[in-house]
Amino acid sequence: RLARQAGHNVVQPVASLCSLCSPDSDCRKLMGLSLRNVILTLYQDKKPVYSELGEMLFTHFGISGPLTLSASSYIKNMKGHIWTAEIDLKPALDEEQLYKRITNDFAILSAKSVQGALAKLLPNSMQPVMVERWGIDPATRANQVTREQKRRLVDLIKHWQVPISRRGDLEHAVITAGGVNVREVNPKTMQSKLCPGLYFAGEVLDVDAYTGGYNLQIAWSTAQAAAAHFEEV
Ligand SMILES: Cc1cc2nc3c(=O)[nH]c(=O)nc-3n(C[C@H](O)[C@H](O)[C@H](O)COP(=O)(O)OP(=O)(O)OC[C@H]3O[C@@H](n4cnc5c(N)ncnc54)[C@H](O)[C@@H]3O)c2cc1C
Repeated sequence: RLARQAGHNVVQPVASLCSLCSPDSDCRKLMGLSLRNVILTLYQDKKPVYSELGEMLFTHFGISGPLTLSASSYIKNMKGHIWTAEIDLKPALDEEQLYKRITNDFAILSAKSVQGALAKLLPNSMQPVMVERWGIDPATRANQVTREQKRRLVDLIKHWQVPISRRGDLEHAVITAGGVNVREVNPKTMQSKLCPGLYFAGEVLDVDAYTGGYNLQIAWSTAQAAAAHFEEV
């Protein structure tokens, strides 16, 4: 508000490095499930804009965790595109290797139901959700699963899709994107070009970065530049 009063243009602040909301009811069913060593790929329409190996979390409203926070900063125009997070649950195996692994598991656990046969492959809470998504009768025994059904399972494990409807709340975001237009601020002194004696540092500026300490660095560096200039004048 102060910046606007001084004549500055303020780029509308939006949540960045935030959780992502999904209308998919499977997220709620998987709430609290934290996955390690998965690849999360974020698609803008059909184009991948982010892909990284790491950790993520299912929540009652969608997805969160380090990979999700990073992915969120690649969303520039939420409403203008279809956004989908795709999770590769077994990135260490390619599709052929995974098919063989499933065939092997199902041979060893041949008398078990399909859900029981997923025990070595997926976390407990994900097994019933996977069976539902798979569309297979839960009473099917592992040794009754057809080749096509195994291919479909491979596809689901390698491409678990979560449609994204919106960013998480601004209050819970790690940072905001948007703020005072940096063209109106002297980058050496952080002094306003429009209102002498007015300085900006940190989050209030339209500067944001990915995870990794860069946002704290922005706050410290801009504050240091401003403080150094106070001493000079
Ligand atoms: C949970 C969490 C984890 C984070 N982890 C990381 C990380 O690992 N690495 C990283 O680089 N960044 C991280 N960040 C982001 C980083 O903390 C911020 O980018 C940074 O703190 C911004 O510093 P700032 O001084 O600009 O703003 P802030 O730290 O928000 O400081 C603003 C201060 O101004 C005060 N204030 C607000 N309004 C008024 C007013 N009207 N009058 C007086 N005082 C007022 C506020 O109370 C606050 O103390 C994290 C943020 C969160 C929320």
